[in-house]
Amino acid sequence: MIPLPEAYQERILTLLGPEADAFLSSYTAPKVQGVRRNSLKLAENSPVWHKIAQEFALEPVPWCPTGFYYPEHVRPGKSPYHAAGLYYMQEPSAMSSAELLAPLPGETVLDLAAAPGGKSTQLAFRMEGKGLLVSNEIHAGRAKILSENLERTGVRNAVVTSMTPEALADRFPAFFDRIMLDAPCSGEGMFRKDPEAVREWTDNSPAFCAARQRDILKDALRMLKPGGILGYSTCTFNREENEEIVQWILQEYPSFTLLKTERIWPHLERGEGHFVAVLQAGPSPAEPASPPQPSASLPGKGKGRKPSASNKQAQEAMDAFLAFAADSLPGFKAEAGEPLLFGDHLYWLPHSQDGTFSAERLTGVRVLRPGLHLAELKKGRIEPAHALALASQSEDAARTFLLAVDREAVHHYLRGEALPAADHANGWTLVTVDGYPLGWGKVSGGLLKNHYPKGLRLMG
Ligand code: SAM
Repeated sequence: MIPLPEAYQERILTLLGPEADAFLSSYTAPKVQGVRRNSLKLAENSPVWHKIAQEFALEPVPWCPTGFYYPEHVRPGKSPYHAAGLYYMQEPSAMSSAELLAPLPGETVLDLAAAPGGKSTQLAFRMEGKGLLVSNEIHAGRAKILSENLERTGVRNAVVTSMTPEALADRFPAFFDRIMLDAPCSGEGMFRKDPEAVREWTDNSPAFCAARQRDILKDALRMLKPGGILGYSTCTFNREENEEIVQWILQEYPSFTLLKTERIWPHLERGEGHFVAVLQAGPSPAEPASPPQPSASLPGKGKGRKPSASNKQAQEAMDAFLAFAADSLPGFKAEAGEPLLFGDHLYWLPHSQDGTFSAERLTGVRVLRPGLHLAELKKGRIEPAHALALASQSEDAARTFLLAVDREAVHHYLRGEALPAADHANGWTLVTVDGYPLGWGKVSGGLLKNHYPKGLRLMG
């Protein structure tokens, strides 16, 4: 690890007094790593989860019932089970935020700073596919990674957007039951695993980040319904970005109540460190005590990308998709929502349970993933989407191709190779590992043509 800045060490001494030595020595300990079980796919008592827990030598994370530590030599990211989205790799203390925000199935939830998707996947697992999750990430490149992570973990009810908080708040005033703001911060809890975070830190970082956090919060709070719940979290230790931000909210928005705060310290717990606060809005829309100042640090409004086709075209595409499903995925069922065409891509857009969210809401919003990607239309034919495979169960499919985690063939599939399929019927086939979908293949004349997406294929 590169040396910690003097100014940072002095701040820690002021913050922690006699505990500062123990805290600073924790930086020389090995980093802590974790996985979260994907409860959309795997029950706690499922045999495959038992196998994973044993092979990865998992130990429970005290503050997250689906979270587990794994030892340094284990590589969960390399297992085909990861490609099947059976778990999400996440630093254990970061598992505390979504756990405390505790969204319920059927709610309308926003994750405002969501990439790469740790909190969003956790929120989505807790929502059990019901209700609406809007996962927003300001940086389009990072939003793409967020989208891939939601796709791999089989999340159906998430809409991925890439907007500034300000532009999003203009579109969704007083709209969400719960909002997660896992804020961009000075990242002091990243120092042990990321030397870049140490290099970027200066004595001005906490004040700079706190100003940005207040700016983002002004927009976040505009989007919260009366009585709604805000989860605010950071992976940094200074008070300016944590307790003082909470104080600022309570002062500026007197109708808010603080429900809970939690700190995870790396010298006291097994985690890199985290702060979470949960606040509840009062019974009327969130109004600041002092009038809002125009925010100078945020970029301008996002350019909108609209659904490109009429409802009629979307319905025709949906009919074609349903014909495909009747043949190849007869168990396909959708929650409340509507078909949406983005160019040649068909999505199933989830509706919110209160009926206030539909495609019109996305006018002027930059959207990367308007719900579950069902299919691509190729010259009038349906090609099922990878996301659809990952959001399905093997029982849903008419034809499956069974691979096992400890056999070489699964790696051939993940490398994009065709596989011999002499005793298989022709047609679209769901390829599974130990019973869990990995992607699509198409059998023809005794060969399974590989449809695992090119961008995800393993090398060599
Ligand atoms: N919640 C994510 C997770 O659990 O995987 C991690 C989020 S990270 C702590 C903060 C995010 O805020 C980054 O993805 C960053 O791109 C985004 N961000 C940076 N500046 C921002 C701004 N001005 N407004 C909103 N988001 C911003």
